[in-house]
Parts: sequence; C-alpha cells; structure tokens
Amino acid sequence: MKETEKQLVRRCPRLGGPVAFFYCTACEANNRACGKIIDCWWETFDVLRYLKDTLAPEEFDRLTCAKPASKVSQLVDIIAQSKKRLTES
Ligand code: SF4
Repeated sequence: MKETEKQLVRRCPRLGGPVAFFYCTACEANNRACGKIIDCWWETFDVLRYLKDTLAPEEFDRLTCAKPASKVSQLVDIIAQSKKRLTES
C-alpha cells in the first residue's frame, strides 16, 4: 500500500465514525476487504485499480459483483464480529 493510501480516512457509514482506508481493506472475516469498499472510496482515489492490483482475482470479483447488503444483514454481521471479538479477549 502506498503511503498516501495508508493515510486516507473517511467517515464509515456502518460505524458512524472515521476509519482509515487500511481498515476497510481487512475489516471482514478472515481479513477480507469490506464489501462496500468500492462504494465508499471511488470518489477519493482509483480504488478499483488499487484492488485489482493487490487482490486475488476471485476476491476482486467478490467485491465488484457484490450486491449491497441489507441493513439487517449488516447489523447481524456487526453483532457477530462483536461477539467474536468479545470471546477472543
Ligand atoms: S468500506 Fe466498509 S468499513 Fe470502510 S468506510 Fe465503507 S462501510 Fe466502512
């Protein structure tokens, strides 16, 4: 990741606060990129080019073909991640 991309920060629509771009690249299960990464970052820089250059083809396809998750499924995902973090600590 280039130094400039490491420093990018935006407001996360899921969390409601600022997040760094590198968080978005690894915040889902198994350190996968967030399914909204393209929606969230396309206006800031060429995130499609970045993802194509850095991800495996199947992971790139997952992100570019992903349907937006419903609010309910997003909440279920966030709750599951929180439970996992609590049991690991
Ligand atoms: S890509 Fe995901 S984690 Fe990053 S700001 Fe968007 S919704 Fe939040």
